[in-house]
Amino acid sequence: MSEVPEIENKVSEALRALNSGKLSISKLDDFLGNPNLAALVRRLYLESKYNVKLSSIASTVIDFVGVVGRNIENPIGAVQVPLGVVGPLLVKGDYAKGEFFVPMATTEGALVAGVNRGIKAITLSDGARTKVLYDGMARAPLIWTPSVVEAQRLASWIKENIETLRKVVKEVTSHGELVEVQNFIVGNMLWPRLVFKTGDAMGMNMVTIAADRLCSFIDNNYPGPHRCITVSGNLCTDKKPSSINRLLGRGKYVIAEAVVKRDVLSKVMRTTPEEVHYANISKNLLGNAVAGSPSFNGHAANIIAAVFIATGQDVAQVVESSMAYTWTELRGEDLYISVTLPSLEVGTVGGGTWLPTQREALELLGVAGGGSEPGLNALKFAEIVSATVLAGELNLLASQATGELAKAHERLGRGKKT
Ligand code: NAP
Repeated sequence: MSEVPEIENKVSEALRALNSGKLSISKLDDFLGNPNLAALVRRLYLESKYNVKLSSIASTVIDFVGVVGRNIENPIGAVQVPLGVVGPLLVKGDYAKGEFFVPMATTEGALVAGVNRGIKAITLSDGARTKVLYDGMARAPLIWTPSVVEAQRLASWIKENIETLRKVVKEVTSHGELVEVQNFIVGNMLWPRLVFKTGDAMGMNMVTIAADRLCSFIDNNYPGPHRCITVSGNLCTDKKPSSINRLLGRGKYVIAEAVVKRDVLSKVMRTTPEEVHYANISKNLLGNAVAGSPSFNGHAANIIAAVFIATGQDVAQVVESSMAYTWTELRGEDLYISVTLPSLEVGTVGGGTWLPTQREALELLGVAGGGSEPGLNALKFAEIVSATVLAGELNLLASQATGELAKAHERLGRGKKT
């Protein structure tokens, strides 16, 4: 007997059950036993209910088997974001060495062209030097105790037992490693900010699972009165701007710098080191200070978001990953420029990095999957991202110094010739 009528019958049965309210869209995977079929039925149901066509959303290379239960629930297809490439970007890092073409997924016209122009200037000026100063993913449970005395006692107990806590972590992850505990006390409340090495993974699931185990271990073994209120007490800090991440770092604390030659600035960007430097201190430093922004840069988020979307990162982490300081100095005839990203949260395994298009984008950079030693690919990737942000900052400052920003957006963002 052919399978086609059988599938058609199941689809009809599922649609009838959805329309009668006997079945919810979240139960379709179990009902049909196939997530791809479930995605089709959700689309058919929505198309008929709202009289819309979802044929573009249906068009995807994603096989939802394996993706449901890992990356998405209730899928109906995929959205597509245009993908551009910038480069060649010369990076002279500790991990990223050589020239790279960096994938950027965006709908903002002029962004890719602008970053590409910054890259040209940096590459012609001997490239970007990059360095990761710190590497650690944090989770900070919140623990109630009855008093500051008890909170301090528990904080000391955690520090004294760190070797045992490390062994507990090893039971739940082979790549995760508890590095240190940064204790914070407010009144009677304690936040042990647990910092982990996470290999090539960005690490949020890994450290959340490990932190949960550690809370249970503390509950079962600490003799004093206390209660773990939540595994995440917001001093981590995930997906929110924060001083703690800016000062202590989260993910990769990475810096990219370059000395851009005067003649290169003149030829590629029609500007001077003095103009770029003045634009930086007046806009990125004074302007952000007046605005009360905690992020002293021009548009780091633009580059980070585009690279994150292209490579399967957790896009909500653009919030803290794009907190950046852009710094410039006049160096003789030339311009020194750096970007410091204290909280760049990136991974080359886990999350969305294994999805087909995202994985290809990581392959283009030579960082897909685990490194030859765990962690090396993620460190290399972090350096490439920081150098790309540097190029974006240089270009934005140059285009604002010369009044070209609006023209570029008019031409490349609205399809008008100027
Ligand atoms: P994950 O996919 O949950 O975990 C990474 C997995 O890769 C682990 O099973 C790890 O095994 C394995 N692995 C294999 N080779 C590795 C290598 N070279 N380096 C590191 N790990 C390796 O990814 P994750 O980075 O921990 O979490 C990312 C996901 O968390 C994203 O989807 C993100 O959206 C989500 N997220 C979760 C939370 C939360 O609170 N849970 C918060 C924000 C975001 P071992 O563990 O055995 O080493």
